[in-house]
Amino acid sequence: MEQQPITPLGASAACQFCGKPLTPDQILYTADARIACAGCNAKVDLVVGDMRVGHNIRNGAIVSIVMAGISFIFNPFAIVTISSMISAIYALIAVNRKGDERFTQHILKDKGTIYACAIIALVLDGIVLILVILALAAMSTMKSHSSY
Ligand SMILES: [Zn+2]
Repeated sequence: MEQQPITPLGASAACQFCGKPLTPDQILYTADARIACAGCNAKVDLVVGDMRVGHNIRNGAIVSIVMAGISFIFNPFAIVTISSMISAIYALIAVNRKGDERFTQHILKDKGTIYACAIIALVLDGIVLILVILALAAMSTMKSHSSY
């Protein structure tokens, strides 16, 4: 991120959100380096926080599908599959949870992606679990055949 030029001492600045003139000791900077008064800074922080929650839901869906893919290659004790399922279910529930619109309003355009990722992840996880169960079954059959 580029550094915001520092306001010369004594020069008055205005809040970039409500336009309120600010003295240098009242100036606050938002996370994206915009000038804000105390009130607007608090509001922006809230929105940034809500956006982060929304993005976490989307990221959960993406992580779930990535883990579902990885689980075909690397999956000790099916941990990757289970983590993937948890992420996918979390994303599916969170994206539609009533009362969480302040979070999900930031990811409305990602809803399709979230559904697609989470559902494909769950399908892949299901396949992997079946493969794991089949492999375990095959192994136990082999063991019982080779036992004395
Ligand atoms: Zn303001």
